[in-house]
Amino acid sequence: MDPTDVQHDSPVFVTPNGLTVRWLGTAGYELTSAEGPILLIDPYVTRVGLVRYLTRRIVPDAALVAEAFSRADAILVGHSHFDHVMDVPLIAQRSGAHVHGSRSTANLMQAMGLPAAQFTALDKDAPTTFEVGPFKVTAVPSVHSRFALGKKVPYAGDIPCTCEVHLKGSQYRCGDVFSFLVDYHGYRLYHLGSANLIEDAIPREARGVDLLLMCIAARFATERFVPRTLAAFTPERVMPMHYDFMWRSADKPMRLLPRTDFGRLVAEVRTFSREPSVLTLPILVRPPAGPPSQRV
Ligand SMILES: [Zn+2]
Repeated sequence: MDPTDVQHDSPVFVTPNGLTVRWLGTAGYELTSAEGPILLIDPYVTRVGLVRYLTRRIVPDAALVAEAFSRADAILVGHSHFDHVMDVPLIAQRSGAHVHGSRSTANLMQAMGLPAAQFTALDKDAPTTFEVGPFKVTAVPSVHSRFALGKKVPYAGDIPCTCEVHLKGSQYRCGDVFSFLVDYHGYRLYHLGSANLIEDAIPREARGVDLLLMCIAARFATERFVPRTLAAFTPERVMPMHYDFMWRSADKPMRLLPRTDFGRLVAEVRTFSREPSVLTLPILVRPPAGPPSQRV
Protein backbone atom coordinates (compact mmCIF):
# COMPACT_ATOMS: atom_id res chain seq x y z
CA MET A 1 0.00 0.00 0.00
CA ASP A 2 1.04 3.52 -0.78
CA PRO A 3 -0.19 6.98 0.40
CA THR A 4 -2.05 7.53 -2.87
CA ASP A 5 -4.27 4.52 -2.04
CA VAL A 6 -5.94 6.53 0.72
CA GLN A 7 -5.56 9.95 -0.85
CA HIS A 8 -8.39 12.47 -0.55
CA ASP A 9 -10.25 13.01 -3.79
CA SER A 10 -9.48 16.74 -3.94
CA PRO A 11 -6.14 18.53 -3.52
CA VAL A 12 -7.10 20.13 -0.20
CA PHE A 13 -9.23 18.95 2.72
CA VAL A 14 -12.11 21.17 3.79
CA THR A 15 -13.65 20.52 7.21
CA PRO A 16 -17.45 20.54 7.62
CA ASN A 17 -17.20 24.03 9.15
CA GLY A 18 -15.14 25.49 6.34
CA LEU A 19 -11.48 25.24 7.35
CA THR A 20 -9.22 24.46 4.39
CA VAL A 21 -6.21 22.23 5.04
CA ARG A 22 -3.36 22.22 2.52
CA TRP A 23 -0.37 19.90 2.87
CA LEU A 24 2.93 21.54 1.91
CA GLY A 25 5.00 18.36 2.19
CA THR A 26 7.08 17.13 5.20
CA ALA A 27 5.31 18.41 8.35
CA GLY A 28 4.07 21.59 6.66
CA TYR A 29 0.44 22.68 6.62
CA GLU A 30 -1.54 25.76 5.72
CA LEU A 31 -4.84 26.22 7.54
CA THR A 32 -7.09 28.79 5.88
CA SER A 33 -10.15 29.86 7.84
CA ALA A 34 -13.43 30.72 6.13
CA GLU A 35 -13.08 34.23 7.63
CA GLY A 36 -9.66 34.78 6.07
CA PRO A 37 -6.90 34.41 8.68
CA ILE A 38 -4.26 31.85 7.73
CA LEU A 39 -2.18 29.75 10.08
CA LEU A 40 0.94 27.93 8.88
CA ILE A 41 2.54 25.02 10.72
CA ASP A 42 6.15 24.00 9.97
CA PRO A 43 5.99 25.40 6.43
CA TYR A 44 8.92 24.13 4.36
CA VAL A 45 8.68 24.30 0.58
CA THR A 46 12.30 24.84 -0.53
CA ARG A 47 13.14 21.12 -0.36
CA VAL A 48 16.85 21.71 -0.80
CA GLY A 49 18.67 18.91 -2.64
CA LEU A 50 20.65 16.34 -0.69
CA VAL A 51 24.11 17.23 -2.04
CA ARG A 52 23.63 20.91 -1.28
CA TYR A 53 22.21 20.01 2.12
CA LEU A 54 25.29 17.99 2.98
CA THR A 55 27.92 20.37 1.66
CA ARG A 56 26.81 24.01 1.81
CA ARG A 57 24.85 26.54 3.75
CA ILE A 58 21.25 26.12 2.70
CA VAL A 59 19.00 28.99 1.74
CA PRO A 60 15.27 29.30 1.06
CA ASP A 61 14.00 29.35 -2.52
CA ALA A 62 12.66 32.91 -2.42
CA ALA A 63 10.72 32.64 -5.69
CA LEU A 64 9.00 29.46 -4.58
CA VAL A 65 8.22 30.88 -1.14
CA ALA A 66 6.61 33.88 -2.87
CA GLU A 67 4.51 31.57 -5.05
CA ALA A 68 3.55 29.31 -2.19
CA PHE A 69 2.25 31.90 0.27
CA SER A 70 0.33 35.01 -0.63
CA ARG A 71 -0.17 35.81 3.05
CA ALA A 72 -0.05 34.34 6.53
CA ASP A 73 -1.12 35.61 9.92
CA ALA A 74 0.84 33.30 12.20
CA ILE A 75 3.36 30.48 11.92
CA LEU A 76 3.72 27.66 14.43
CA VAL A 77 7.08 25.89 14.50
CA GLY A 78 7.30 22.47 16.20
CA HIS A 79 11.11 22.27 16.28
CA SER A 80 14.05 23.86 14.54
CA HIS A 81 15.42 21.16 12.23
CA PHE A 82 15.85 22.57 8.72
CA ASP A 83 12.81 20.81 7.28
CA HIS A 84 10.55 22.57 9.78
CA VAL A 85 12.06 26.02 10.21
CA MET A 86 14.36 26.93 7.33
CA ASP A 87 11.78 28.85 5.28
CA VAL A 88 10.08 30.43 8.28
CA PRO A 89 12.20 33.61 8.68
CA LEU A 90 11.65 34.50 5.02
CA ILE A 91 7.91 33.74 5.11
CA ALA A 92 7.61 35.82 8.28
CA GLN A 93 9.54 38.70 6.74
CA ARG A 94 7.40 38.68 3.59
CA SER A 95 4.03 38.21 5.29
CA GLY A 96 4.49 39.91 8.65
CA ALA A 97 3.18 36.71 10.27
CA HIS A 98 3.78 36.26 13.98
CA VAL A 99 6.01 33.26 14.72
CA HIS A 100 5.53 30.95 17.71
CA GLY A 101 8.28 28.45 18.43
CA SER A 102 11.28 27.57 20.55
CA ARG A 103 14.08 29.83 21.72
CA SER A 104 16.15 28.41 18.82
CA THR A 105 13.46 29.46 16.34
CA ALA A 106 13.31 32.89 17.98
CA ASN A 107 17.08 33.21 17.54
CA LEU A 108 16.69 32.62 13.81
CA MET A 109 14.01 35.29 13.58
CA GLN A 110 16.32 37.69 15.38
CA ALA A 111 19.13 36.80 12.99
CA MET A 112 16.76 37.68 10.13
CA GLY A 113 16.38 41.12 11.69
CA LEU A 114 12.71 40.72 12.48
CA PRO A 115 11.32 42.83 15.32
CA ALA A 116 11.07 41.07 18.68
CA ALA A 117 7.34 41.78 18.69
CA GLN A 118 6.94 39.42 15.72
CA PHE A 119 7.90 36.23 17.53
CA THR A 120 7.11 34.45 20.74
CA ALA A 121 9.41 31.93 22.38
CA LEU A 122 7.07 29.30 23.82
CA ASP A 123 7.32 27.89 27.32
CA LYS A 124 9.11 24.54 27.03
CA ASP A 125 7.70 23.27 30.31
CA ALA A 126 3.99 24.07 30.15
CA PRO A 127 1.24 24.41 27.55
CA THR A 128 0.70 27.90 26.14
CA THR A 129 -2.67 28.94 24.76
CA PHE A 130 -3.22 31.86 22.40
CA GLU A 131 -5.56 32.98 19.65
CA VAL A 132 -4.94 33.78 16.00
CA GLY A 133 -8.13 35.23 14.54
CA PRO A 134 -10.69 32.41 14.81
CA PHE A 135 -8.05 29.82 15.79
CA LYS A 136 -7.48 28.83 19.40
CA VAL A 137 -4.02 27.31 19.63
CA THR A 138 -2.41 25.36 22.44
CA ALA A 139 1.33 24.76 22.11
CA VAL A 140 2.20 21.59 24.02
CA PRO A 141 5.76 20.60 25.08
CA SER A 142 6.74 17.46 23.20
CA VAL A 143 9.78 15.37 22.22
CA HIS A 144 11.56 14.40 19.03
CA SER A 145 12.00 10.81 17.88
CA ARG A 146 15.41 9.41 18.78
CA PHE A 147 16.57 7.82 15.56
CA ALA A 148 20.19 8.94 15.29
CA LEU A 149 22.93 6.44 16.11
CA GLY A 150 22.78 5.46 19.76
CA LYS A 151 19.06 6.29 19.89
CA LYS A 152 19.69 9.99 20.08
CA VAL A 153 17.76 12.96 18.80
CA PRO A 154 19.52 13.96 15.57
CA TYR A 155 21.27 17.33 15.78
CA ALA A 156 20.11 17.84 19.35
CA GLY A 157 20.71 21.08 21.21
CA ASP A 158 19.86 24.68 20.49
CA ILE A 159 20.57 27.12 17.68
CA PRO A 160 22.57 29.83 19.41
CA CYS A 161 21.81 33.48 19.28
CA THR A 162 23.70 34.24 16.09
CA CYS A 163 24.00 36.77 13.33
CA GLU A 164 23.76 34.05 10.70
CA VAL A 165 20.33 33.31 9.30
CA HIS A 166 21.56 30.85 6.68
CA LEU A 167 23.09 27.79 8.24
CA LYS A 168 24.37 24.40 7.17
CA GLY A 169 21.85 21.60 7.49
CA SER A 170 23.59 20.20 10.57
CA GLN A 171 23.47 23.60 12.29
CA TYR A 172 19.69 23.54 12.38
CA ARG A 173 19.66 22.09 15.87
CA CYS A 174 16.44 20.57 17.10
CA GLY A 175 15.80 22.96 19.99
CA ASP A 176 12.76 22.53 22.21
CA VAL A 177 9.92 20.55 20.66
CA PHE A 178 6.23 21.40 20.56
CA SER A 179 3.06 19.87 19.22
CA PHE A 180 -0.06 21.92 18.59
CA LEU A 181 -3.75 21.66 19.27
CA VAL A 182 -5.74 23.95 16.97
CA ASP A 183 -9.42 24.55 17.61
CA TYR A 184 -11.42 26.16 14.83
CA HIS A 185 -14.99 26.83 15.99
CA GLY A 186 -15.05 23.47 17.75
CA TYR A 187 -13.27 21.48 15.02
CA ARG A 188 -10.09 20.27 16.68
CA LEU A 189 -6.96 19.20 14.90
CA TYR A 190 -3.63 18.19 16.39
CA HIS A 191 -0.21 18.54 14.77
CA LEU A 192 2.37 16.00 15.95
CA GLY A 193 5.41 16.94 13.88
CA SER A 194 7.85 14.30 15.14
CA ALA A 195 7.10 10.64 15.75
CA ASN A 196 7.31 10.75 19.54
CA LEU A 197 5.09 11.98 22.32
CA ILE A 198 4.75 12.66 26.05
CA GLU A 199 1.36 11.26 26.96
CA ASP A 200 1.18 13.12 30.27
CA ALA A 201 1.66 16.49 28.58
CA ILE A 202 -1.22 16.08 26.16
CA PRO A 203 -4.14 18.24 27.28
CA ARG A 204 -7.54 16.69 27.94
CA GLU A 205 -9.06 18.78 25.13
CA ALA A 206 -6.87 16.90 22.67
CA ARG A 207 -8.66 13.62 23.30
CA GLY A 208 -11.08 12.68 20.55
CA VAL A 209 -9.64 15.22 18.10
CA ASP A 210 -11.33 15.42 14.73
CA LEU A 211 -8.07 15.26 12.79
CA LEU A 212 -4.63 14.06 13.87
CA LEU A 213 -1.77 15.20 11.62
CA MET A 214 0.71 12.49 12.51
CA CYS A 215 4.41 12.43 11.59
CA ILE A 216 5.41 8.92 10.64
CA ALA A 217 9.09 9.52 9.76
CA ALA A 218 11.43 7.36 11.86
CA ARG A 219 8.50 6.19 13.96
CA PHE A 220 10.07 2.76 14.53
CA ALA A 221 12.60 4.45 16.83
CA THR A 222 9.77 5.16 19.26
CA GLU A 223 8.41 2.17 21.10
CA ARG A 224 4.82 1.38 20.07
CA PHE A 225 4.48 4.85 18.57
CA VAL A 226 1.30 4.28 16.57
CA PRO A 227 -0.81 2.47 19.19
CA ARG A 228 0.34 4.84 21.93
CA THR A 229 -0.49 7.87 19.81
CA LEU A 230 -3.91 6.55 18.88
CA ALA A 231 -4.64 5.72 22.52
CA ALA A 232 -3.57 9.22 23.59
CA PHE A 233 -5.65 11.11 21.03
CA THR A 234 -8.45 8.69 20.05
CA PRO A 235 -8.77 10.66 16.80
CA GLU A 236 -11.71 10.51 14.42
CA ARG A 237 -9.40 10.78 11.44
CA VAL A 238 -5.65 10.37 10.97
CA MET A 239 -3.64 12.17 8.33
CA PRO A 240 -0.14 10.64 8.23
CA MET A 241 2.58 13.04 7.09
CA HIS A 242 6.37 13.50 6.86
CA TYR A 243 6.76 10.34 4.76
CA ASP A 244 7.95 12.16 1.61
CA PHE A 245 11.67 12.24 0.77
CA MET A 246 12.17 15.93 1.56
CA TRP A 247 15.39 16.40 -0.43
CA ARG A 248 13.43 16.04 -3.66
CA SER A 249 11.57 18.86 -5.43
CA ALA A 250 7.79 18.75 -5.17
CA ASP A 251 7.72 19.19 -8.97
CA LYS A 252 9.02 15.64 -9.32
CA PRO A 253 7.02 12.52 -8.44
CA MET A 254 7.11 11.94 -4.72
CA ARG A 255 9.51 9.36 -3.32
CA LEU A 256 8.92 7.85 0.12
CA LEU A 257 11.42 8.13 2.95
CA PRO A 258 13.17 4.84 3.71
CA ARG A 259 11.31 2.57 6.13
CA THR A 260 7.98 4.29 5.66
CA ASP A 261 6.09 0.98 5.51
CA PHE A 262 2.84 2.72 4.75
CA GLY A 263 0.80 -0.47 4.54
CA ARG A 264 1.78 -1.45 8.06
CA LEU A 265 0.83 1.99 9.31
CA VAL A 266 -2.64 1.83 7.78
CA ALA A 267 -3.13 -1.68 9.15
CA GLU A 268 -2.13 -0.51 12.63
CA VAL A 269 -4.53 2.44 12.51
CA ARG A 270 -7.38 0.27 11.28
CA THR A 271 -6.94 -2.28 14.02
CA PHE A 272 -7.30 0.40 16.69
CA SER A 273 -10.65 -0.03 18.42
CA ARG A 274 -12.03 3.35 17.39
CA GLU A 275 -11.16 2.63 13.73
CA PRO A 276 -10.25 6.19 12.74
CA SER A 277 -10.26 6.82 9.01
CA VAL A 278 -6.91 7.35 7.29
CA LEU A 279 -6.52 10.08 4.74
CA THR A 280 -3.61 11.60 2.86
CA LEU A 281 -3.31 14.72 0.73
CA PRO A 282 -1.07 15.39 -2.24
CA ILE A 283 1.80 17.81 -1.69
CA LEU A 284 0.58 21.19 -2.84
CA VAL A 285 3.34 23.78 -2.77
CA ARG A 286 1.51 26.27 -4.96
CA PRO A 287 -1.94 27.27 -3.74
CA PRO A 288 -4.92 26.14 -5.77
CA ALA A 289 -6.66 28.90 -7.73
CA GLY A 290 -9.76 30.57 -6.38
CA PRO A 291 -10.92 31.53 -2.89
CA PRO A 292 -10.72 28.88 -0.16
CA SER A 293 -14.44 28.14 -0.38
CA GLN A 294 -13.94 26.99 -3.95
CA ARG A 295 -10.82 24.94 -3.28
CA VAL A 296 -12.52 21.61 -3.33
ZN1 LIG B 1 13.20 16.79 13.16
